Amino acid sequence: MFIDDVKIKVKAGDGGAGMVAFRREKYVPKGGPAGGNGGRGGNIVFVGDEGLTTLLDLHYRKSIKAENGENGKSKNGFGRDGADQYIRVPLGSVVYDVNNNTVISDITKHNQEAVVARGGRGGRGNTAFATSRVPAPDYREAGERGVERELRVELKILADVGLVGFPSVGKSTLISVISAARPKIAAYPFTTLYPNLGVARCRDGRSFVVADLPGLIEGASQGAGLGIRFLRHIERTRVIVHVIDIAGSEGRDPYRDYLTINRELENYNPRLLLRPQIIAANKMDLPGTEENLKILKSKLPDITIVAISAYTKNNLDELLYRISDLLDTIKPDSFREFKEEATVEYKFTPEPDPFVIEKDTDGVYNVVGPMIEKYFNATDFNRDANVKMFARRLRNLGVEDALRKLGVKSGDAVRILGYEFELFD
Ligand code: GDP
Ligand code: MG
Repeated sequence: MFIDDVKIKVKAGDGGAGMVAFRREKYVPKGGPAGGNGGRGGNIVFVGDEGLTTLLDLHYRKSIKAENGENGKSKNGFGRDGADQYIRVPLGSVVYDVNNNTVISDITKHNQEAVVARGGRGGRGNTAFATSRVPAPDYREAGERGVERELRVELKILADVGLVGFPSVGKSTLISVISAARPKIAAYPFTTLYPNLGVARCRDGRSFVVADLPGLIEGASQGAGLGIRFLRHIERTRVIVHVIDIAGSEGRDPYRDYLTINRELENYNPRLLLRPQIIAANKMDLPGTEENLKILKSKLPDITIVAISAYTKNNLDELLYRISDLLDTIKPDSFREFKEEATVEYKFTPEPDPFVIEKDTDGVYNVVGPMIEKYFNATDFNRDANVKMFARRLRNLGVEDALRKLGVKSGDAVRILGYEFELFD
């Protein structure tokens, strides 16, 4: 099954929590700190794989999770990192964040890796917080949460050449005779249910990737037939080969067909008309085609038209040379919309501010914040030593400096979490 559009939830591993532990020694009630750091959570990494042609694997996995990091251990043992999850995707996979519709990554190369969800950092254990003033701290950090997001993965095939044209003009036949691709060929529309890719080779050794993009009919850009599903795959081709049934089988008019298909391309994406085009006038083995070819050439004097028969394999070398020559004039990355910088995303949720100073209605400053609360709750205000410790911690956080900058002087009243204090030296 050809799947080129998938939504999937990913959740990278959470970081392990740091540990609070103390060395146990004979006759020493509380030895030095000995709590290790937590391990990093596993990343979710997409990897380009040239052997894949569809997002079928992702389609069947509704969510992907990576392992959490292990918590830190006593005796300064570090927690193990969570294992990374590697997910292989076909080349041309564009990964979007559903939330803000930004491109996280465009995977265009074999073995290219993109971290689509980063695991959380492990929290530090209490050993990491030991200082000469606080040699045995009893706190540690929790692990950072791993990134969780919903992704949309869209496959936009990376082919040098896209074959477009009405159904039954001979696109599948053509790709089967110029490359090793073996698509289904039949005399009715929409036999090709997914884009076939093939490598075509010129006699002089030059080669390029061709995609047979099926189902273009009038109204395709509005969703008629299978067209809209495949139009996106034309976007990244460097050259469009417009296959026309020059015999005008089944009452077709080659020139009108040409205009109709181009209009569909334009409706889908006007930039597509700027893409260099070559016309392959196919089915030249049928009667009446010489005359039709003359008419088409007179109506389109500025466009390269190569008369071929995919059926008798007539003049295919000429077509391959013309395509290769044209490709040589266009840089490989010309129509890749997404730049490499978007490949890997490193984004940590910023640490919350350790404290915030608010001005109460009576003009007294009030200091709040998660770190303040943490220190406050850990302090026994009946013990002088603990209160001094609390003051020292606030000074280390920069609370005192911040208050003085706001004009608070020694002896002035301040609030901490709403409780009245006095600022001392
Ligand atoms: P697609 O829908 O564009 O992929 O067309 P197909 O490759 O499936 O071909 C449609 C029909 O046209 C099939 O019956 C083919 O055998 C026939 N066909 C393709 N190329 C030629 C050709 O050069 N000459 C003749 N006479 N018939 C062809
Ligand atoms: Mg076909």
